[in-house]
Amino acid sequence: MKVKHIDHIGVAVKDLNQAAKFYTDILGIAKQEEEVVAEQKVRVAFLPITDSEVELLESTEPDGPIARFIENRGEGIQHIAFRVENIEEALEELKEKGIRLIDQHPRKGAGGARIAFIHPKETNGVLVELCERD
Ligand code: ZN
Repeated sequence: MKVKHIDHIGVAVKDLNQAAKFYTDILGIAKQEEEVVAEQKVRVAFLPITDSEVELLESTEPDGPIARFIENRGEGIQHIAFRVENIEEALEELKEKGIRLIDQHPRKGAGGARIAFIHPKETNGVLVELCERD
């Protein structure tokens, strides 16, 4: 598999607008338009820095995965996403190597990306997302 670079770092926050202010007002990073990913019960904002982005994630439902993450572990880094050249190939390779996956097949993520998560038991507790974009 070909990993190109860190695509983004996902940060779970309670209040996306409040959290974004640090990046926009203090660090001077421009925020892209927000997007709701209904399937994930999450509102997302990307703050791009050259090849990588900070992805702020706010739950839209009290029972969403981001709400549960914050309940258990507090706000903070929730996942790291690696950009891959071909996500199907990457998933096949991981399956062949016996790596446990959360997503057996790619699904639609924010910004039109195709994404899949690897089980954090395989990565010393880090939730790793693979991500392919056109
Ligand atoms: Zn992500």
